[in-house]
Amino acid sequence: MNFETVYIEEDTKEDKNTLDILGRIKFKNLIYCNSYSEVFNPKNQNFRIQKIKPDIILAKKKNNFIMNTPKNFTIGFTENYYFSHMLNCIYDCKYCFLQGMFNSANFVIFTNYNDFINEIIKKSSNKNKKLCFFSGYDCDSLALENITNFLKVFLKSFEKINNAYLEVRTKSTKIDVLKSIKPMKNVIIAYSLNPEIIVKGFEQKTPTLKKRINSINSLQKLGWQVGLRFDPLINYSKNKQIYKKFFELVFSKIQVEKIHSVTTGHFRMPNNFFNKLINIRPEDSLIFNKLKNDRLLECQTQRKECEEELIKFIDYKKLFAN
Ligand code: SF4
Repeated sequence: MNFETVYIEEDTKEDKNTLDILGRIKFKNLIYCNSYSEVFNPKNQNFRIQKIKPDIILAKKKNNFIMNTPKNFTIGFTENYYFSHMLNCIYDCKYCFLQGMFNSANFVIFTNYNDFINEIIKKSSNKNKKLCFFSGYDCDSLALENITNFLKVFLKSFEKINNAYLEVRTKSTKIDVLKSIKPMKNVIIAYSLNPEIIVKGFEQKTPTLKKRINSINSLQKLGWQVGLRFDPLINYSKNKQIYKKFFELVFSKIQVEKIHSVTTGHFRMPNNFFNKLINIRPEDSLIFNKLKNDRLLECQTQRKECEEELIKFIDYKKLFAN
């Protein structure tokens, strides 16, 4: 992958993961900085222009490695946490909340992967408790693996933490890293799926539904645990027939009995993020205004309707509404 500029925090420049990443990419300019926030946080940046050709920022995460998930966010574990080794994403989903949250579309990679592991080990010290860690909250966990090598490094250590479970949330079909590692009991590869018409309309630059289903099949054959994430459901009530056919298709193509968990999620976005989105994507303002107005109705109605449809295919104990 080619980048115009790579920014590196001074205290990260000698780290092994940083040097390895530099060896895997091509770039024209290398600029050192004291903190990634100097480059990433200023307000006067154009997210849409940066999204066309993002720069890359290599940094060291200093604190808040592991955060509590929102209440009730679960795939069956009582203690749930999230973390992100990266900020931003190679895909360009219209509904992506990162556009509302960040001022910059540049990729930040926190290269001190072991510090995340150390925090997870600390959190998991009570061996009687099973904890779940969600990766890919502020990025796609797998999509930039060919540059970050994150999973390759991280999973080696994570495997040893017996009472910790990891969800790797993704839309990516670049599964080479998972083909190269022995499947792990405490790791769930969770695919975000939507009907192809929604993928085309809302999930720009992402792999097609067919390609994602093919990857699920390959991973199941290899022995990886796979989860399905129908998240976000877009206008479920109005697109009920589309989703009905979509569920039939997905569950007819995979090994249902081996699925770890299925979650549904409504389109959740705070108003200030929504307004920012309408501002930076004026061409889509009609769609966004409609989604914004339908949001509350969606939350109340879709959960029950969608559950009724999904329990035709999957044990309700494996089904979670997040
Ligand atoms: S895949 Fe996820 S993180 Fe990436 S653009 Fe889409 S919604 Fe955002």
